[in-house]
Amino acid sequence: MPAAQAVAAPKKALSEPQKALRKLGLVRDIDLALHLPLRYEDETRIVRLCDAREGETVQIEATVTDSQIAFRPRRQLVVTVDDGSDTCVLRFFSFYPSHQKALAVGTRLLVRGELKGGFLGWQMVHPATRPAGGALPEALTPVYPTVASLPQAYLRKAVLAGLARADLSETVPVPLVPQLGLRDPWPLRAALQFLHHPPPDTPLATLEDRSHPAWQRLKSEELLAQQLSQLESKRERDRLRAPVLAAPAGGLHEQLLQVLPFQLTAAQRRVGEEIAGDLGRAVPMHRLLQGDVGAGKTVVAALAAAIAIDAGWQCALMAPTEILAEQHFRKLIGWLEPLLAARGQVVAWLTGSQKKKERAPMLERIGSGEAALVVGTHAVIQEQVQFRRLALAIIDEQHRFGVAQRLALREKMDEGGQEPHLLMMSATPIPRTLAMSYYADLDVSTIDELPPGRTPVVTRLVADSRRDEVVERIRAQVAQGRQVYWVCPLIEESEALDLTNATATHQALSAALPGVLVGLLHSRMPAAEKKAVMALFTGGQMGVLVSTTVIEVGVDVPNASLMVIEHAERFGLSQLHQLRGRVGRGAAASACVLLYAPGENGRLGETARARLKAMAETADGFEIARRDLEIRGPGEFLGARQSGAPLLRFADLATDAHLLEPARRLAPLLLDRHPQDASRHTARWLGGKSDFLKA
Ligand code: ADP
Ligand code: MG
Repeated sequence: MPAAQAVAAPKKALSEPQKALRKLGLVRDIDLALHLPLRYEDETRIVRLCDAREGETVQIEATVTDSQIAFRPRRQLVVTVDDGSDTCVLRFFSFYPSHQKALAVGTRLLVRGELKGGFLGWQMVHPATRPAGGALPEALTPVYPTVASLPQAYLRKAVLAGLARADLSETVPVPLVPQLGLRDPWPLRAALQFLHHPPPDTPLATLEDRSHPAWQRLKSEELLAQQLSQLESKRERDRLRAPVLAAPAGGLHEQLLQVLPFQLTAAQRRVGEEIAGDLGRAVPMHRLLQGDVGAGKTVVAALAAAIAIDAGWQCALMAPTEILAEQHFRKLIGWLEPLLAARGQVVAWLTGSQKKKERAPMLERIGSGEAALVVGTHAVIQEQVQFRRLALAIIDEQHRFGVAQRLALREKMDEGGQEPHLLMMSATPIPRTLAMSYYADLDVSTIDELPPGRTPVVTRLVADSRRDEVVERIRAQVAQGRQVYWVCPLIEESEALDLTNATATHQALSAALPGVLVGLLHSRMPAAEKKAVMALFTGGQMGVLVSTTVIEVGVDVPNASLMVIEHAERFGLSQLHQLRGRVGRGAAASACVLLYAPGENGRLGETARARLKAMAETADGFEIARRDLEIRGPGEFLGARQSGAPLLRFADLATDAHLLEPARRLAPLLLDRHPQDASRHTARWLGGKSDFLKA
């Protein structure tokens, strides 16, 4: 790796700007060369004041005719300049004596800033000034993304130096360049030189919207780096070994199918076969099973578990919280436990809240292999847990598990250097562009069909001021023997406030609905109490369940036909969609009421409005996910999975999707035929960061 002399002189303590460069990840020459401008300033031209327009950012050349310190409305340096065509007043609210000296009467200056035309003539507030004289720059001046402790001028110099020294040779061999899918493929060096110093006649619009061929080239290079690193981690995984698991005829898999109270949908059968195919290979599965809320992922997981158990191995099943683990897997266990018992095997539970006395025998059964299926929270992957023969790990709501937890899981099995198969489940479908980019290393199975007999959920947006009407509606539903969820929002800053809100709502609803059992569930309740409340709701005795957090509502109660979400504007789109999926599970017509309260200015924020609109307009999980990506961008979408992973800096999945497919096809070609170029390419773009992608 080339040393970055300009950036850090060895042994001497780093200066503030040097530290800032480090922090921005600008360490190597190539990092600096790839640090591209946010925008440009045109300092190549001088505008005469008489030709300028209000609001324009211009550069003028003028002589100081007056300079004084004024004290009203606050202390400021007021400098008047004259360019021969007109005068302009410059105001500085923070200034030093040196500043004042540089702007003394008679000095000839270049002044650059935004022109305001006031009643007293032209003005600029805090313009950039420098002595006139020297030659004007010949290219537009780049403005780089930076931080407060790193001045533009310093950064510019560092970038220039980096650009001059960096190795900018091509990593895509010339014959393969057409495969980048670029209309006008610029060489990398030319593209970088251009973007750092565009000539003054460059149309700024194509630079700003990044449609210029130079930008396109950089974006496609970046996407290629992402594809290469994902492909490499995929291949690395393919070199690992995993137990071959096949379902024998008449075994547990078949028995399970027979006891199910329903037929699998075609989509469930298809994904089941995809998973079985993976399990039958000696390479660890790394598959994401996605399907909308209620699509029936759990039974698919159960069938996969049956295959592993049949083959004489253990299976671990995890959900992010205790109540989710319980709710998601109760049915599954109901089906599997009797079948296991007949074979002398048991199901073990592992949760964080377990007492030592309960836990010890569980650990023993897991260690001995008597527990064929281990169910729980991430307590399952804690150190003390020793499996006898773990072959398959299934993670529900995978996006809520972090990279570290998945790595810990892989370490649970070191039998003969083998790894467990991994099945991740998610109710938040990944939009295609994301699946092709950030998740390119995963295999994806999709359940794209809901079990029959579901009724679509009608969604209504209702202003909070009409709460009373909503309560009437609840009364009517409960009178018909139906059940209702009422979800209160999570206020991140204050868990205590959440609780007060939910408690108040609970009291108000109890008072408004005499004779109806209204329950309350919140995250601070002891596990046993939560369980008791849930049991009353699932058992049908409780008419209304008020709950504070989204998480706790992972419930399957087909009789629930109405969900009210309070302060719906505070929830994320996929959260709202998940919540809504809790109703409409039975034959009854179901509804979801999104209660919203406008902000202090009497209006909803723009993104909140976009989210609620999406909810009202569509019930399709994929469409919701696509809009969510649009609203939030990939950074937040990826959640725990990629925390710390390099996000795309330049390519934008919304506008650059056309570059994604070519990059995806080119990556294996480059890796197979030109491995050295491929590794130069990933090193250039990702430096040491590509490790993050491997978990
Ligand atoms: P999710 O994909 O959200 O995890 P679940 O696995 O919890 O969905 O399934 C939702 C409900 O649908 C459960 O009650 C489950 O038993 C039921 N179910 C699953 N598959 C089918 C099917 N093929 N036919 C009828 N009901 C099904
Ligand atoms: Mg589920």
